[in-house]
Amino acid sequence: MPTRLDPHVHATASSCSRLTDEEFLQWAGANPNYFPLVADHQSLEFYERHGQDPRLHPRGLFALEVTLGAAWVDLLLLTAEPEAFAGLHELLWRLGRTADPDNDELRAYLHDPRILLIWAHPLEVELPLPGWLVELPLDFLEVNAARLSFMAKPERVRDHVQALDSIRHDLLPDPPMLIAGSDSHQGWTLGTSYNQFYREVESAEQAVQLLRRGAFRGHVEVSGFHGQALVVEFEPKPQRMGELEVEA
Ligand SMILES: [Zn+2]
Ligand SMILES: [Zn+2]
Repeated sequence: MPTRLDPHVHATASSCSRLTDEEFLQWAGANPNYFPLVADHQSLEFYERHGQDPRLHPRGLFALEVTLGAAWVDLLLLTAEPEAFAGLHELLWRLGRTADPDNDELRAYLHDPRILLIWAHPLEVELPLPGWLVELPLDFLEVNAARLSFMAKPERVRDHVQALDSIRHDLLPDPPMLIAGSDSHQGWTLGTSYNQFYREVESAEQAVQLLRRGAFRGHVEVSGFHGQALVVEFEPKPQRMGELEVEA
């Protein structure tokens, strides 16, 4: 069965999350075609505690969400090489709740080629974009299911996804790909939004390779429309401006 990956789930170490590590691990154990990925706020505690849990399959992909102070920009950092994250947890602890993007130690992580960078929920930033953000080697912009669910009308969801396309084409020098993220903070949204590869993925390294190649299809389920769900499907690679197809 093709593997589905959701890079954005919050568990125990995120104080805003109602989902616990144990609930997440139970879900992961019961859903073997999902690549489960916890990205807690400024924290790698989940992996320190549960990195070897057999319910994670395949193991060895690590993620966390970093809030950068100046503009409240959130980034998801992913890697299959644990050495790339060495010292990062301690650094974020020192930098506090919102990290300074001009901090040289942090910049080294953000520019590390072993780390995939996803700009989480990008439409909340104020324009013009700060220079440090434009210079980041962003791999992806996230289509964030939780944020889309706050929108009251399907037309607004469509506008939002089009606006993401315009950010990547008009405001960033090297258009990033799009990626789906559930931003789950509770159990019932697990598994509803994901990136589906075209095959079964056997290792964390392979997942990273396929992500870099854009060899998947994004699927975001938006809840909140009076009980009916709206589904947004997309190809991750940038096409020409205005050619993004959103099947809603
Ligand atoms: Zn966030
Ligand atoms: Zn988040």
